[in-house]
Order: sequence, then structure tokens, then C-alpha cells
Amino acid sequence: MQTNSETTPSCLPVSPLGRLKIAITIDDMLLLRGVPLAPGHSVPSNVSAIVAALHSHRVTGVYQFSNTAPAEDDPGLMKIFDTWVENGHHVANHTHHHPPLNWVDTDTYARDIEEAEKYLGRYINAAPKRCFRFCMDLWGDTPCKCTAILERLEAMDYTPIPVSIGFHDIRWNAAYCRVLRRGSPDEAAQLRQAYVDSALRELRIHAANARAVFGRDPVHIWLIHGTSIAADCLEEILHRFDEAGVEFVPLDTAMADPMNAEIPPRVSPEFIFQVEKWALVHGVPVNDRHPAILDQIETLHPAPGEMQAEITLRMREHIASATGACVQPIPLSPDQKH
Ligand SMILES: [Zn+2]
Repeated sequence: MQTNSETTPSCLPVSPLGRLKIAITIDDMLLLRGVPLAPGHSVPSNVSAIVAALHSHRVTGVYQFSNTAPAEDDPGLMKIFDTWVENGHHVANHTHHHPPLNWVDTDTYARDIEEAEKYLGRYINAAPKRCFRFCMDLWGDTPCKCTAILERLEAMDYTPIPVSIGFHDIRWNAAYCRVLRRGSPDEAAQLRQAYVDSALRELRIHAANARAVFGRDPVHIWLIHGTSIAADCLEEILHRFDEAGVEFVPLDTAMADPMNAEIPPRVSPEFIFQVEKWALVHGVPVNDRHPAILDQIETLHPAPGEMQAEITLRMREHIASATGACVQPIPLSPDQKH
């Protein structure tokens, strides 16, 4: 496999301005309906590996935002929330069925948040703060909807938590499942290496974007999902981040930064994160290109029904059938129709 993901030496600091502070957040540890686990992995084994990786880097108090529909199908999955909090971490709300707000009305979305609370309420209330994360970081595709849902969240005593930096990590899940099923151990190791490299490369790019917008390093909120490849690689990612001058901080520290605390005054119907939302507000051109490697990994062991696009389609069908959502393309950038 050709990778072009990390050309900068790992040891170079991510920022020329000092250690880059990031709060780690983890989404969808139960995955989503229609999204597979890799062979040899289970949700509990993934959670244990993620907990161990955080522990080895002395990171505590990490908020996870998981949709709860998979626990409706398998109530045994609820045990992972006990594991999570017993290890010093926190649980937050990420809806039950994971509908993008662009696809449903405010009432439907608010009901879905309440449904998730039935599963997670006792864990959410045990956290220092009642936190919520919008699915795909979509805060409403019209000003009205954005205002309406923020009012509903306030009434429910939820603080919405943005994402400032991710690396499209969930899009590696399909390729990892295929490679573990059909590839050699060397291929699997190469894919894991490319994934770790991509995490660091995207961190460099989006941290640089943020410096271009703010003229400083804001405190970032970094996202990774609870996939099998994340479970197998988080330890190495945190090691590489540490080597590159990253400091792991609590979510409260990140939420005290105005970049995260303030809501960008622009309705963003695109699937983009906080740094790039502010870049649009301030008219600062930044690099928000999708990594080319995401297409390259889809050429690995192609198999009908197991490709990323097919898995996404199945996931969207599950969401639509459960919520009545009207599935529409979600723009990946302001100049993209879909
Ligand atoms: Zn999610």
C-alpha cells in the first residue's frame, strides 16, 4: 500500500509556539447500527484497549459520546459504561439513533436526545458536567433550527461540546475489517501505521489552520471514534502525539477557550469542525482537504457489502427507518454541493 500520510518527521513539534493542548474525546463506542467490528474484536474489548491506552498516558476524565441504539439491540453493551466510569472517565449524550440534525426537525432530534438519556442518565449525571455532542457536529442547517435546538439543550441542562480536530478516523473502519479478514499480518500492520501517521498529519494541518485563524494555539478538542482500529492504535497515537509536543488536558480546560466556548456566528450545514467554522466566519483560507489516503485504503481487498460507502449507506438506512429522517447528502465543504 502506498501511503503519503506523514512526511514530516514525528519528532518535530506540532506547534512552533509551545506544547499544543488537546482534550481527547471519544465518540460512538458502541459503534452504530450497520457498522461492523473487525474480526477478533468486540465492543468490550475495544473499550478495554482504549481505557488501557488512556491509562498508560495518565489521561483521565475523558468524555465519551456514544449513540445508544446498539444497546437497544444488545442490552449487555451497557456494561461498557460501568467500565468507563470505573476507570475515571465520563459519559455524555450523543442521541439515541444518531440522526444528523440536517435530516430531522427539532422535535424529533430533541426526542432522540431524551431517548438516549433513558439509557445513560445515571452516568451523565455522575459526570462533572452534562455534556452533549451533535451527530457529525451539525448544529442545524438553518438559523431557526440552530437557535431552537440550542434552547432545547439549555432547557435539558446540556452543554454542547464541539469538535475542533478529527482525522476522518471512522472512515478507516471498513478497510481495517476487510484487511483483518483477508489480508496478511503485514498488511494489517501497514494499515495501522498509516492510520497513526494520518492522525498526526491531520493534527498538524488543523492546528496550523487554527493558528492561521486565531494567531495563537487555541486549546483543541480532538475526536476519535470507538472503532477496532482505534482500539488497536490509540496507544501509539498518544505516544506519537506526546513525542510531537502535545499536552493532554481536561475537557473543561478546552471549553474555557473562546474558540470552543463561543458558537461561530454562521450556520454551517457542512460536515466541518470548529476550526474550519471559525475560518469561514473570519474569511481565512485554510486547508480542509480530505486526506487522499481515504480513497487509497478503499482499494484494499475490495469485497461486496464491505466497502465504506456501502456501510455508510446501511447506517443511514437504519437511522432513516428508526427516526423518519429524510436522508440527504451532507456537504463536506462550503463549495461542495454534496
Ligand atoms: Zn457520532
